[in-house]
Amino acid sequence: MSDLLELSLDDLSAGFQRGDFTHSDYLRAIEQQIADVEPAIHAFLHVDSSQTRDSARSPEASGPLAGIPFAAKDNIVAIGGPTTCASRILAGFRSPYDATVIQRLKSAGSLLVGKCNLDEFAMGSSTEHSAFGPTLNPWDTSRVAGGSSGGSAAAVAARMVPFALGSETGGSVRQPASLCGVLGLKPTYGRISRFGLVAFASSLDQIGIVTRTARDCAYVLSTIAGHDPHDSTSSTDAVDDYAEGIEDGVKGLRVGIVAESLNGLPGSTRRNFDDAIAVLRSGGAEIVEVSVPSMGHAIAVYYIIANAEASANLSRFDGLRFGHRSTEPGNLKNLYMASRGEGFGAEVKRRIMLGTFALSSGYYEAYYGRAQRIRAMMRADFAHAFQRIDILATPTTPSGAFKVGEKVGDPLEMYLSDIFTAPANLVGVPAVSVPSGFDGQGLPLGLQLTASHFAEKLLLRASHFYESQTGFYRRRPPAAETSWSS
Ligand code: GLN
Repeated sequence: MSDLLELSLDDLSAGFQRGDFTHSDYLRAIEQQIADVEPAIHAFLHVDSSQTRDSARSPEASGPLAGIPFAAKDNIVAIGGPTTCASRILAGFRSPYDATVIQRLKSAGSLLVGKCNLDEFAMGSSTEHSAFGPTLNPWDTSRVAGGSSGGSAAAVAARMVPFALGSETGGSVRQPASLCGVLGLKPTYGRISRFGLVAFASSLDQIGIVTRTARDCAYVLSTIAGHDPHDSTSSTDAVDDYAEGIEDGVKGLRVGIVAESLNGLPGSTRRNFDDAIAVLRSGGAEIVEVSVPSMGHAIAVYYIIANAEASANLSRFDGLRFGHRSTEPGNLKNLYMASRGEGFGAEVKRRIMLGTFALSSGYYEAYYGRAQRIRAMMRADFAHAFQRIDILATPTTPSGAFKVGEKVGDPLEMYLSDIFTAPANLVGVPAVSVPSGFDGQGLPLGLQLTASHFAEKLLLRASHFYESQTGFYRRRPPAAETSWSS
């Protein structure tokens, strides 16, 4: 039998239909891969495929996702297992309902097999801030998988699931996707319901998708996108058929590059990016230099706004309404302090303090108010650029995966890995990271493509062109090899 774990969603559907293999065969292959590979990677916080075995035997739905196992970041709630956000404060929490995305995937016949590791409350860029230990990179297990959706990206890269859901506030799907050599999409703000996603920074948060290919991503997006009465920020715009026309190529597309943002990049990242641009040019794209002057402020603005909103959102974890409750409180004030003090990890506390400070009277205008004004400038700069171009291209990250422990003691250095990704969240536009090959050390790099609001279809079309020319998505990381699967 061919290696089931390498098959695209289209190949799987065709194989099921022809009777080459059954849904149960495929689920067994996935379970075996998780059993073999997960101990070295730690992509999951919770695996349980037992509930899905019956549905796998005879999926009721038809379509590209019927009978397909998937995983979700553990800040997306699902019935039947824990949701921890990789935090001790949520120990023992079980959701009484499914997030809308989970419910839509289940209706399409998909099978949730596990919940993925993340930086605590999605705050981080390496998954080292998980209270349950880091996820390791399948390309080199001495290195991080990126974050905060490191578990989701590593699970897909290591062939443990064909797709996974993550969440994005400032790059948390695209950055780990890039570091793990898979595709990560952050859709337009409002394209996907966030009902059941634990909030980090509400004006930035969006659920994202990790797959190996653009077409697989198109199928998942078509299934989960669209208005949801439970989420007032979800858009009522009609949902595209994202796979339709995906082979139309890039001829005539205007692809913008921002020269000033490329200065200072390590040589291997720069060469990788130049090669990627050459591929787009060879397909008939027109390369245009544009300037986005406010882009350089993205990190400063992002970390003020994200932390300010986080400090408000995380107030609900107080030991009374939600979360761990300290056993020796004494009085009410101490109950709050002790429960939060015991439950939250260091990075989350740092964010709450920074965010509370940025919002405090006397400093509000100097920090939060000013950040919001620069955010408005960024929106205007992007709108202006998108009059001249269809797609903006940058590297996804300044460099490949770093060593475990390398940046964890230096928050600012860690924050800088979001330099190319945070702008799309601040502006609300969609962006995708596509595998673009490897640096000198054999670590994956990513090409980031950004388009204007609701242009996901265009992004996936360009991604499909690029990946079909280069084929990097076919490479399999060493940690995904098992005697059984190779
Ligand atoms: N790395 C960023 C942060 O630490 C982004 C997180 C995210 O997108 N959830 O805030």
